[in-house]
Amino acid sequence: MIRKGMKLYSILFGVCPKCHQESMYQNKNPYVLSEVIKMRETCSHCKTKYQIEPSFFYGSMYVSYAVGIAFAVAAFIISYNILGFSLTIAFIAIVVTLIAFMPVIMRLSRNIWINLFMSYDKELVKKSTTESKQH
Ligand SMILES: [Zn+2]
Repeated sequence: MIRKGMKLYSILFGVCPKCHQESMYQNKNPYVLSEVIKMRETCSHCKTKYQIEPSFFYGSMYVSYAVGIAFAVAAFIISYNILGFSLTIAFIAIVVTLIAFMPVIMRLSRNIWINLFMSYDKELVKKSTTESKQH
């Protein structure tokens, strides 16, 4: 099972990579296209700054190639191998999949990218939750 504390949790749900307490994104729904990559500046729980340096998230473009290929391969296997469509249809399925999942791919890439640099921090979670109780 995927639960808080696992890197996969932060990657799949786009939550703060250090405390896993809240979404990094202003709008949780990636299909509100005007807000796909609108992120909060810092985590309100642990004060982690997401943008480590200016244009930090440009690096996530490299990740998005890999994620895009993973989606393309999945679309190909499902349409060609499993559903038995022709190569032409399988190719169209790949293009449609990549377009349909673009917001998801963009966010997954950012989530993976930031999780390469930051990890879940149990102590930080304890500290931030006790602090918020005091206030
Ligand atoms: Zn946090």
